[in-house]
Order: sequence, then C-alpha cells, then structure tokens
Amino acid sequence: MFRLDDKVAVVTGGYRGIGRVLCVELARAGAHVVAVDVLEPPIGEQMLADVRAAGGSAELLPCDVTDHEAIGDAFHALYKRLGRLDILINNAGIARDQVLLRVSPEDLHKTLAVNVGGAVFCSKAAIRPMSRAKTGRIINMASVVAETGNPGQAAYAASKAALIGLTKTLAREYASRGVTVNAVGPGFIDTDMTRMLPEDAKQLMLQQIPLGRVGQPHDVAAAVVFLCSDEASYITGQVLRVNGGMYM
Ligand code: NDP
Repeated sequence: MFRLDDKVAVVTGGYRGIGRVLCVELARAGAHVVAVDVLEPPIGEQMLADVRAAGGSAELLPCDVTDHEAIGDAFHALYKRLGRLDILINNAGIARDQVLLRVSPEDLHKTLAVNVGGAVFCSKAAIRPMSRAKTGRIINMASVVAETGNPGQAAYAASKAALIGLTKTLAREYASRGVTVNAVGPGFIDTDMTRMLPEDAKQLMLQQIPLGRVGQPHDVAAAVVFLCSDEASYITGQVLRVNGGMYM
C-alpha cells in the first residue's frame, strides 16, 4: 500500500464524516495527522480513538477555516513545533441547499466562505513550508455536482466548481516548487450529509450510479492516500472522481 511515513498531514473538517475516515487512513499510512474542525473536541476524540486503534498518531486543532488570521497563526505554530507540513486536505465543507429563488445572501456568502475561502486561506497558510521543502500535496474536496450541476444546489455546486478552478491554478503556480495540487470529486457518499436525504431522493440517486451502490468514506480516503503518496508525484491539476461512474 501507499506509505506516508514521517509526513505531517492537515485535514480540515476532520472530526466526522469523510474527514474522520481521511484522518484514520492517512494516519494508518504513517502520517501524523492534524485535524482542524469547528466541532466540539469530544467529537474529535472519537476520531482520535479510531486513529489510535489503527496504530497511527493524530491531534486536534479546533479552528474555523473562515477565520483566516487564526488559521495563519495556527499553521505557523504547527510548523514551528513539528518542523514540517507536507499534506493539506481541504475537506471542510457545508451545503445549504435551496432552489435559486430561495438562495439568501447569507447562505451564499457562508457557503463560499467555508468551501472556497477556507481552501484558499488554508492553502495560503500551508504553501510556504511546502515551497521551502520543495515538496507538498494539496487536495481539495470538490464534488460530482461541480461538473454535473444539481437542482437545489446552486450555491454548493458553484462553490465546488470554484474549487476545481482553484486546484488548477495552484497546480500551475506551485508545480515548479514540487507541490502537486489535485481535487477529489466524490459522488454520493454515505455520511450524515446524505443520510438526511428523503428515501425517494436516495433511490433516484442510486439509479444514476452505474456501479449500483452508494460510495463509502473509505472509497474517498483510498483516492486521497494515493494522491498524497510519492507514487502520485506526476499527477497535478487533476480531478480524481470517486463516484461509481455517476459522471464520466
Ligand atoms: P460533514 O458535514 O459530515 O463533515 C464536514 C466537517 O467539516 C464537519 O465536521 C464540519 O463541522 C466541518 N466544518 C464545517 N464548517 C467548518 C469550518 N468553517 N471550519 C472547520 N470545519 C468546518 O461532511 P461530509 O463528510 O459528508 O463531506 C466532507 C467533504 O466532502 C465536504 O467538503 C463535502 O462538500 C464533500 N462531499 C461530500 C459528499 C457526500 O456525499 N457526503 C459528496 C461530495 C462531496 P460541522 O458539523 O459543525 O459543520
């Protein structure tokens, strides 16, 4: 399997959902994981227990990715203490679903602030250590809806499409520094976010998945671990779709 021994990996939105599994799998591959989240630390403790059970190491960093100053300070302190910052997974994301006529300025601004602003400023805070080390990995958690669109998700789909533009831009800006930047595009993944959908919406979604099943957070984590590995060093500016064939 792909190894990440001695690397330091920061995962935003790492306490639950896909992020929690990302933390466990990155740690299982050998990285020391720092999980950034707005949730109360006890929720993060459950993730830490999973990491320990997998024989890995991780810590919690309670912080809001929209607080650019706090993120800058926290990443700086982290780098000073640990001496490296190799991997950043911009996974924190929110969805405030509304049809266009109901999209409020607050919902739009909040969605863009977390999903896009968070990724921009976390990347900004991580890029110096990576550039200095002439190696690094940034992975942005996009979504299938960035490329297909989805009724009722104007703000969310726009934010995820923006992440793909950000990915390609940063890939070009930092390729000469040895930093690769890629996006992962999950389809319909079994988490709290999707469990809340009504049964008929879930069935409709399932019919659009050629592989005939909902994805699991582990499916996404496997793609992320690969993109973080040395074996993926010639891959940059790409969207790796993990969607069971929902969009090709
Ligand atoms: P969850 O809502 O389960 O987890 C997201 C995590 O990010 C939560 O812990 C959340 O905390 C945290 N978070 C939210 N806002 C902030 C913030 N401002 N600063 C720091 N952390 C924050 O989502 P999923 O695990 O389902 O999704 C993870 C990523 O994958 C998201 O970017 C999502 O858009 C994307 N994705 C998910 C799909 C799916 O089917 N589940 C499909 C395609 C993409 P809190 O609970 O307090 O909000």
